[in-house]
Amino acid sequence: MSIQLTQVPQDLHIHTIYSQYDSAVVDEQTPELIARVHHARILGISDHFEHFTDRFDEYKKRLQQLNLHAGTEVDGAAYVGEAIQLDFEYYIYHCRNQRSEYDAIDKLLATGKPVIIAHPMALDTDLGKIPPECYIELNNRYIWRDDWKRKIGPYAQSFRFLIGSDAHQPLWLNQNVARYVASQLGIEETLLFEG
Ligand SMILES: [Zn+2]
Ligand SMILES: [Zn+2]
Repeated sequence: MSIQLTQVPQDLHIHTIYSQYDSAVVDEQTPELIARVHHARILGISDHFEHFTDRFDEYKKRLQQLNLHAGTEVDGAAYVGEAIQLDFEYYIYHCRNQRSEYDAIDKLLATGKPVIIAHPMALDTDLGKIPPECYIELNNRYIWRDDWKRKIGPYAQSFRFLIGSDAHQPLWLNQNVARYVASQLGIEETLLFEG
């Protein structure tokens, strides 16, 4: 008898033990665990760039062996110059509300890789200043803490959106709140890496 597990279509915002200085990550949150649980059909890991730069080759190889897409979460303009040197499949970007942070987006876009604006409300990102080529994240960890109807609603038709768990622990691997918000705003999620 086989048991049918529920899968969401996509999750590209997941942390593992490579986010080694993030105190929210637990030791059990390994890439292997993510691959085994397989809560999403399209799966990508996005560990904090500045936590594992020196182990990039190991990171990428380990994720490839598990059929996990290899992304990274970049903490603002200060790290963009280094992050674009390495061959990630996509970037999740912390864009604080400062000119230099918006300007650095062009460098990420120039790589040709998808650029996902992380949890914009949590960082006070002005979506009016974000290039339309970027994807906007509905983030399950943060979205319920702010007025998403007023702050995301006006942009629901202006961008393509991704839904992410931002999981740091196994029990965070779901997207129920962000999916509720998407349905309320009439947003259809964009799937990357299809097929
Ligand atoms: Zn973040
Ligand atoms: Zn994150």
